[in-house]
Amino acid sequence: MEKKQFKAESKRLLDLMIHSIYTHKEIFLRELISNASDAIDKLYYLALTENTGISRDDFYIRLAVDKEARTLTISDNGIGMSKEEMENNLGTIAKSGSLQFKEENADKMDAKEEIDIIGQFGVGFYSAFMVASKIQVVSKAYGQEQAHLWESTGAEGYSIEPCEKENPGTEIILYIKEDTEDEKYGEFLEEYKVKGLIKKYSDYIRYPIKMNAEKHRMKEASEEQKADKDYTPEYETYREDETLNSMVPIWKKSKGTITEEDYNQFYKEKFFDFEEPAKVIHTNVEGVSTYNALMYIPARTPYNYYTKEYEKGLQLYSSGVLIMEKCADLLPDYFSFVRGLVDSQDLSLNISRELLQHDRQLKAIAVRLEKKIKAELLDMLHTDREKYETFFENFGMQLKFGAYNEFGMHKDAVQELLMFYSSSEKKLVTFAEYVSRMKEDQKYIYYACGESREKLDKQPQTEMLKDKGYEILYCTDEIDEFAIKIIGAVEEKSFKSVSSDDLGIEETAEEKEALEKQAEENKDLFAAMKEALEGKVSEVRVSQRLKSHPVCLTSNGDLSIEMEKVLNAIPA
Ligand code: ADP
Ligand code: MG
Repeated sequence: MEKKQFKAESKRLLDLMIHSIYTHKEIFLRELISNASDAIDKLYYLALTENTGISRDDFYIRLAVDKEARTLTISDNGIGMSKEEMENNLGTIAKSGSLQFKEENADKMDAKEEIDIIGQFGVGFYSAFMVASKIQVVSKAYGQEQAHLWESTGAEGYSIEPCEKENPGTEIILYIKEDTEDEKYGEFLEEYKVKGLIKKYSDYIRYPIKMNAEKHRMKEASEEQKADKDYTPEYETYREDETLNSMVPIWKKSKGTITEEDYNQFYKEKFFDFEEPAKVIHTNVEGVSTYNALMYIPARTPYNYYTKEYEKGLQLYSSGVLIMEKCADLLPDYFSFVRGLVDSQDLSLNISRELLQHDRQLKAIAVRLEKKIKAELLDMLHTDREKYETFFENFGMQLKFGAYNEFGMHKDAVQELLMFYSSSEKKLVTFAEYVSRMKEDQKYIYYACGESREKLDKQPQTEMLKDKGYEILYCTDEIDEFAIKIIGAVEEKSFKSVSSDDLGIEETAEEKEALEKQAEENKDLFAAMKEALEGKVSEVRVSQRLKSHPVCLTSNGDLSIEMEKVLNAIPA
């Protein structure tokens, strides 16, 4: 039997790849920077194992733009490539020299956790063809004499020839495409744009990314000019080397070395808030899934929080490289107010490194984050009540929706975090606190629904309960009663609306007798009242729940009158 190899039309394949994998052209820079970082990691690894005398501080990545020539150049002083390596790694789509390196050194590398090679799919390099019509790669492998130039315009294949290069490392020159009517490429030749992309995607690459960038400064005024009151300062432009990335991600530093100020500063810059966060949650986890998470609870409700525009999610990094701006799967809806990021090496990324496959690791991380956030909130509740109440005023509504939504699936997760205003305590209280204060003969957790606390204080239905010393929870938001209903019971005590017909209060024999007597005596009056209110009430009768008020409404179902109103307002 004859065995044949599949043949791939590389030209077509390349085209397909370039145009279908990536949704954002701009990620090409992230890919090339990641490759440069990998190349440096490899040489650094060599330096560690072979005593070459190279120190970590010697490494850098450099960017340069030349508007005239329309080139963007990315160079590194990493391990470089030999002619063979260029052929294998740049000439073969989906061949990753970095993956191979990781595999070959896997057993040795574990100990050196500083090595954190990013590449694995062998396609990132080609993303540069999204923005470049031609690419030149000048590279000299570490330990070799001869450098080579690899050149390609994408579709037509590539050429390799010897060339001059002094030091080991790689220089990648992109000839940026001309703008067309639909696509603009010129921005990749703008320094500000390049800087912005580095900040966005590659801020935490561990080697400095430098650029000789244009800057502006005020010209020093002469004595004469200073004396002149009409003098307006002049500006001059100059060029200076600038490091564009912050390198060490704050979340990877050990907690002891980070000040509150550092955390707050980072929050304000990263998440565009003017105010310091109410709470910082920093956690480094190792084990089945290894990740660092840095999360914040804002001090105020974002202006669009309770609107459709608000998007929940945490930033997702893989080895310090941004993968996703808002990963919604990392946060449950009821914690959607949390801002922050997660960095993990254990994620299975898809080939474009833009999206994640619905990943077990990601789920596992989300579960642990949820637990962590809840534990931190409970801790705040128990140790810093005032702060928790402010938090609850900001985001409590979301927690109540959380209890109710999805048929109450998450009610157990949020129940402990909920608070309601208490008639007797005159402040927000938790269910657990309520239950701990319940009177011995009290069967239910009572709640009253109304527009405001003031109105509820005067509600006739609550009089007798208050007289008995029972506490009542006030529901002033529409969601409140829905949440309470779906929670059903806390510590086996179920909820009862103060307007429900049966409040579950045992009457003494005398009370019962008195009531019956009163009912009998006023039978005609009640009948006349019922007739007058024909169709509006189903019954008029004596009640023992009133003290100073003459009448009140009750409902004979399980719903409060307020909830009936809400439900009736929903169009059928
Ligand atoms: P990946 O990074 O996933 O391996 P790429 O397509 O980005 O795939 O790169 C292919 C290979 O080319 C890399 O694995 C590496 O071996 C080689 N390479 C790319 N850029 C450089 C560089 N700057 N220095 C040395 N080798 C490089
Ligand atoms: Mg790569």
